[in-house]
Amino acid sequence: MKSVLVHCCCAHCAAYTVDHWRRQGYEVSALWYNPNIHPYMEHQHRMEAMESLAQEVNLPLIVTEGYELIEYFRQVVGHEFQRCQYCFRLRLTKTAEVARQMGFNAFTTTLLISPQQKHDLILEVSSELAKEKGLDFLYADLRKRYSDSRRGTKGLNLYRQQYCGCVYSEWERYANIE
Ligand code: SF4
Repeated sequence: MKSVLVHCCCAHCAAYTVDHWRRQGYEVSALWYNPNIHPYMEHQHRMEAMESLAQEVNLPLIVTEGYELIEYFRQVVGHEFQRCQYCFRLRLTKTAEVARQMGFNAFTTTLLISPQQKHDLILEVSSELAKEKGLDFLYADLRKRYSDSRRGTKGLNLYRQQYCGCVYSEWERYANIE
């Protein structure tokens, strides 16, 4: 059976995504690496929600050590208006590295279920990484399943975030900046 490492940005996007790849016949494991989530306690709440989901659905979850907040800002500062592409690259590079080290056949990300994320950028970065690391990148446009995924976690009483992750997105969300 082929294996895939799924980068997970939150439990609510992971629920349907994991199910989807399991239904495609993959042995699925998850990776938590999200230094783009600020502040630290918000990161911890989302990570704990992901750990609870993993337990609930019997999903092997790899949690990276530490919180690479400084690395996130080193990548993004000076590129604030294109920050998502640097953020994707940081998280997907780690995912591809871990997938390669641990012998997975493929990698993918729960970002593909979010209607807010830019698929062209995710694809560009991921295809480059897949080639570099000798892995497959699994692409599926799951955006229409976003609500199903959220419905899937409804009964689990997991922490739900109100903004994408970084301090810039928190500011945009609460200051109503488009
Ligand atoms: S808005 Fe979201 S995807 Fe973009 S940089 Fe911030 S956390 Fe990353």
